[in-house]
Amino acid sequence: MAFYDNFLDDTHKLLRDSTKRFALAEIQPYAHDWEEAGEFPRELYKKAADAGVLGVGFPEEAGGMGGGPLHMLMSIEGLMHGMTTGVTVGLGSLGIALPPIIQSKNEDLIERFARPALAGDKVCALGITEPGTGSDVSGVRTRAVKDGEHYVVSGAKMFITSGVRADFITTLVRTGDDPHGGLSFLVIERDMEGVSVSRSLKKTGWWASDTAELAFDNVRVPKENLVGREGAGFVTLMRNFQTERLALAAYGYITAELALAEAIKYAKERKAFGRPVAKFQVSKHKLADMATQVTAAKTLTYQVAARMDRGDYCVKEVSMAKNFCAEVAVNVCYEAVQLHGGMGYMRETVVERLSRDARLLPIGGGTQEIMKEIIAKNMGL
Ligand SMILES: Cc1cc2nc3c(=O)[nH]c(=O)nc-3n(C[C@H](O)[C@H](O)[C@H](O)COP(=O)(O)OP(=O)(O)OC[C@H]3O[C@@H](n4cnc5c(N)ncnc54)[C@H](O)[C@@H]3O)c2cc1C
Repeated sequence: MAFYDNFLDDTHKLLRDSTKRFALAEIQPYAHDWEEAGEFPRELYKKAADAGVLGVGFPEEAGGMGGGPLHMLMSIEGLMHGMTTGVTVGLGSLGIALPPIIQSKNEDLIERFARPALAGDKVCALGITEPGTGSDVSGVRTRAVKDGEHYVVSGAKMFITSGVRADFITTLVRTGDDPHGGLSFLVIERDMEGVSVSRSLKKTGWWASDTAELAFDNVRVPKENLVGREGAGFVTLMRNFQTERLALAAYGYITAELALAEAIKYAKERKAFGRPVAKFQVSKHKLADMATQVTAAKTLTYQVAARMDRGDYCVKEVSMAKNFCAEVAVNVCYEAVQLHGGMGYMRETVVERLSRDARLLPIGGGTQEIMKEIIAKNMGL
């Protein structure tokens, strides 16, 4: 049994195995082509839903598979065996777009948006970041002004995962002047007049996932599309961040674990000066350090997920796990590329892709610096 597996029961292990089987059959054989093409087939959402790997962590009443934070980690681990973060985050954009809708307990919104997304019939995205603001959410300028039975929305959103082909975007808008209390969530549908994709953005990594800059030009959004209470957007977002950051921690340790496995395989096969690269003491120490980092990152994240499962307040620890795992991913991928020598710089190797993908982890979903601010604040500093 692996060191950290004592956190898991049979349901977690079965889910990890079935998701991995899905990824090995339906993603990994096509990973290179989809990454180079910068997209994956839309049908994959349906396939993933039918295989029971899309709605993990969402309540069954809303069309999900049930399960808690540890189950979510298992699905990310399994899917990442497809060897493309781009596909995993593309499929996973519902993980950040749907919780505000489901937690609102608004049956109409759940029926119209959450259920079809969890069934793989609709693609969704979360729209928070704007061209002018990211870390500072209180700077959101996209405005929603009431006009009869509608909100009229104008503004722009930036770096939106799955935003190019999303059917709807769970969007943070400004409904009032108070920096935090004036924020609300609206579901904006792609086919509403005035919604457009300004740009499909080219990125360092995560190639198979689309990333959009979106424009809203006097979009008339019915009042029924308000998620939760007007003015409660900031509180909802802070809650949403906890799951997103836990997921990003999982992306961190699993990216590192996959890169480590590739590095071990290559170092055992590749010969230099008459012996396998793995036999040099410096390589062994490097691999030992990498394995230590992966074990620590994974253990911390499992522990935090288990505590979240119990309903404990873990804001500080989630931020710690997100930062630690992101750093481990970047470091381990760097060394995995190094152990591959020139091959590590070639697009045909998995470590090259993983090392590019890892770089987003200290930035997305709250930067390393913002995580440290949260940790320090929760230390009473
Ligand atoms: C590939 C990708 C996918 C993304 N997907 C989504 C998505 O689906 N939906 C979405 O809404 N957003 C998404 N984002 C946006 C992402 O969450 C933001 O990029 C991130 O939160 C940082 O915001 P920013 O880019 O505006 O950086 P800024 O906030 O401009 O920060 C710039 C630098 O200043 C530092 N800084 C800022 N404030 C402080 C402070 N108080 N103290 C110290 N340092 C500070 C930051 O740490 C950073 O180093 C995505 C981004 C990328 C690159």
